[in-house]
Formats: sequence, structure tokens, C-alpha cells
Amino acid sequence: MSLAVTNTVLDGESVGLRVERGLIAELGPGVDAHPGDDVVDGRGTALVPGLVNGHTHAAMTLFRGYGDDLPLMEWLEQRIWPAEARLDADDVYWGTRLACVEMIRSGTVRFWDMYWQPGAIARAVEDAGLRATIGVPLIDALDPANTPKLRDDALASLDDITGHGPRVEPSLTPHAIYTVSEPSLHWVAEHAAERELPVHIHLSETEEEVERCVDAHGLRPAAYLDRIGLLGGERGATVVTNPVSNLKLAVGAVFRYRAARDHGIPIGLGTDGAGSNNSLDLLQDVKVFALLQKHEARDPAAVPAAEAWAVATGQRAPLLGQSTLAVGEPADFILVRTDTPQLSLGDFTADLVYAASGAVVDTTVVDGVVLMRDGIVAGEAEVRTRAVERARRLGVA
Ligand SMILES: [Zn+2]
Repeated sequence: MSLAVTNTVLDGESVGLRVERGLIAELGPGVDAHPGDDVVDGRGTALVPGLVNGHTHAAMTLFRGYGDDLPLMEWLEQRIWPAEARLDADDVYWGTRLACVEMIRSGTVRFWDMYWQPGAIARAVEDAGLRATIGVPLIDALDPANTPKLRDDALASLDDITGHGPRVEPSLTPHAIYTVSEPSLHWVAEHAAERELPVHIHLSETEEEVERCVDAHGLRPAAYLDRIGLLGGERGATVVTNPVSNLKLAVGAVFRYRAARDHGIPIGLGTDGAGSNNSLDLLQDVKVFALLQKHEARDPAAVPAAEAWAVATGQRAPLLGQSTLAVGEPADFILVRTDTPQLSLGDFTADLVYAASGAVVDTTVVDGVVLMRDGIVAGEAEVRTRAVERARRLGVA
């Protein structure tokens, strides 16, 4: 199956693009459709790489608007954890499908997920057509006696995630240092190294977490992980900042982005789950990320638009898997409407970061497959209906 996008614009130049077997086969001025191509008419659009969501809990779309404006622990203990105790695989499947529709609509082509029932997440991602690195959720209530069970559950979950095609990749996701014991974290480090799996963990989210870690181990959380062998250190540990979720829950401090960047640490952007954000639209969060950094630094040049855009598209964090618009690369890209008020004049990158929302996205292509065309995602109505049914079953909607 081959695909052609005609009459679009890349870096201000009129171009065409062709896709064969999931890869960009031709790209540039004068590139036109071949006979038999599925043709997307790109008039009124520009071609840009897709966005990469470095941290989310996709199925938490089911909990959107359930317990807003509560303190973090009250929100978790009284709302989220009791509801999560009732979750089954079909809930997670349809919640993840709903998240995938929202991400497709707002231009995200790849995400890093951490949630229960990873086998159901893998099926949802496979069916939705996106790319994702799906975590095996690991929690042992800080009790080393639970390490053998954590290990057995992790190995079974890894089996559930495999076999869902090349767009679905596994990772190990210990929830946090305050919910997973040190022996379990040691096992995670060893097993990740053995199978070359990435590890994805919440870190230094609250002042309390940092204080408790210093009291217990004499080290701040990142140093504690490094001692266990989990960080990767110079070997590429990536920080994903989730400014909107942190702002809404009123926890933590402003991420010291510039200090991390100046030390050469790879950095990505995440939404966190829709239970706490409440949106999965990275085109909104990239603006908040940039503004927060500017305001904190009292310097409007602290994070320029092009740099914020690079972070949101994964270009500052190779591990996260950015898409590259070049011949031979995977055909993951979006078309944004340049005939919208937000994108019709001014600097294009600044418009994307400061003016646009996901509503400017017209077409989303992943692995050479058109997941949204002219603003329409096939099967969206069924996904919404089923997700609402699951939320009602859980008593959260
Ligand atoms: Zn999270």
C-alpha cells in the first residue's frame, strides 16, 4: 500500500511526499502521486513531525473530571485508587482507545504509557495505529517480601505486551521510589539490562518524596536510583517534564529545565494522565512549558519557540523516539491547517507553540497509515460510546 501527500508545505517550500511500506520513499518539491497511490490532498496544510508524549497513563481518560481540584493524596485515596481497584481489561482497552483518538486528533504519534492491564493497552495501541512504549506496572508497597511476586507478575505482563507488532514496545515501569522497595528496584535494574528494556518511573514529584528519600537513604531520589543502577547516567537517562499536571495538582516545583539542558540531559514533554491534566493535547502543554520556564527565569528568551517545539517532538530526547521527515525514515507525520486563524501569518514555529491547539491538526499518519484525514478518525464514535459505558460501569461518570 502506497500513499502520497500532494501540495503541502515543508519549511516554507511547496512539497509532495510519498510513502511505501511504512517508510518515506520520496519527499521534496515536484514529488507527485504515482498511479495506485492513496492520495491525500495537502492544499492549505503544512507538514510537520508528530508530537511525542513522554509520560502518560492513557486509560485514565476514564477518570477525566472525576475528582478535580482536590489535594493530591485526597484525589488518589478517595477517588482514583478505589476506582482503579474496580478496573478490568476492557475498561483499560476502551480508555486507552479514547486516549489514542484524542492523541491522533492533536498530532501525537507516539507515547510512553504506564498503567494497569498492559496487555489491554497493547491491544488498544495496535488497533488504534499509534506507536507506544508500554510499561509493565510494578508496585510492591515497599515490602521486599513482595519482590518475588512483583517479578513473576512483571514477567507475565511482558509476555502480554509482546507480539503486538512493531509499533508496540515494552518497558519496565516501577511506579515510584515510595511504592517499590529497593530489592525490587535492583531486580528491575538487572532485568532491564539483561533484556535491554527501558525503565520508566515517576521521580522527585513532591517535596515529601525527596525528604523521605534523603532520610531513608542519605541521597536525593535521582542519586538513589543511580546507586541502584537504574538511571543509565551518561548512558542516556531522559527526564520528562509534565508541567500541566504538576501545576493543576499544585505539587513539586518548576522543573529546572535550563540546568538539565545545560548539563546535556535529554528532555521530553509529557501530559501525564487525563485524570490529572485533564487533556492529552501536547500542543497546549508545549505553550505552558515554555511560558512557565520564561516566567520562572524572568527572561522571555529562556526557552525560545523552536527549542520548545524540539522538546515536544522528541528531538531533545533520542530515547523517546522522535520522527524525522527524511527519505528512508518511518512515515510518522502530521499535516496542520495553515488556513486557520492561528497559523495563517507570523512565524510558523512560534504559531505552533504559542497560538495553536490540537484543533489545527488535519491529518495524522503513523507507519504510513492515515489515522486521521480531514479531521476524521475512523471509528471514533464507537470508541467514545464504549469508553463512556466503561466509565459508567466504574461509577466515575
Ligand atoms: Zn504519571
